[in-house]
Amino acid sequence: MIEMRHLTRRSLIGGLLAAAAAGTGSAQAPVRVVTSTTILADFVRAVGGDRVSVSALVPANGDAHVYQPTPADGRTLAAAGLVVFNGLGLEGAGFTRLVRASGYRGAVVGAAEGIAIVRRAGGHHHDQGGGRAQRETVEPATVADPHGWQNVANVAVYARNIAAALAQVDAAGAASYQANAERYGQRMAQLDAWVRARVASVPAAKRRVITTHEAFGYFGAAYGIEFIAAQGVSSEREPSAAQIARVIAQARRENVRALFIENMTNPRTVEQIAREIGAAVGGTLYADSLSDANGPAANYEALVRHNVEMLVAGMQRN
Ligand code: ZN
Repeated sequence: MIEMRHLTRRSLIGGLLAAAAAGTGSAQAPVRVVTSTTILADFVRAVGGDRVSVSALVPANGDAHVYQPTPADGRTLAAAGLVVFNGLGLEGAGFTRLVRASGYRGAVVGAAEGIAIVRRAGGHHHDQGGGRAQRETVEPATVADPHGWQNVANVAVYARNIAAALAQVDAAGAASYQANAERYGQRMAQLDAWVRARVASVPAAKRRVITTHEAFGYFGAAYGIEFIAAQGVSSEREPSAAQIARVIAQARRENVRALFIENMTNPRTVEQIAREIGAAVGGTLYADSLSDANGPAANYEALVRHNVEMLVAGMQRN
């Protein structure tokens, strides 16, 4: 507002006319959206189009569960017009603390809000140490699984939430955001149908997979695959010897040969299990973050297609 005093009335009106002539989309600066993960950033890009600029705090191939904020992240947040995170415990308490400390005072939107929450048994191997110990003094019987984006059908909910949040900070773009979210949702419905068809090519009895942490609960529930992991829904804590032994015993008992490492977690556990049961690791699944731009999961749709082809090939070996 201070700068406005330096403008003559004439140049101000001229500027407004120029902005109007340039159209509603391009005249204004894009809304700066900051997300926790690269997957959420991709959703914001799909919904926001050229009305937004997006950056993710956790980089490609990074792990949101163990995210450690940097001073640069605080500055990025302070300049944000909107903050989008997943919620359901994905980002942990460090994220909330960072947002508060950054001085950002705008909306902080949980993009997973309203999805049907999958709960996982096993509070016993979830978040016993680290920052959450003080908050969770009693271990819950089940915990909310935060990995909602792994059910492709849920992404329409993510897109709608993002569209509504963007409309709050950029009312002029509301119709555009809504249309983009709707179109993206339709695209996701087609992708969902494709996933179902690919998984259906694997006999039901073979649909078992071993991964590092429980990132695929929504995927498994939606598409009829049993995922077995030594680590719980958070990768925050290394699995115990007993947890690894349990997975090895189940793999032997049920003849599971489909093993995958994840792009953002330590491959050691799965490699150890593979050695123990005499199977080969089937490759890398993109669980909680995208690959870099040159990788096989540079956007969400590519991530899904890559994971599904890897999983189908792996499960055929069971
Ligand atoms: Zn995860």
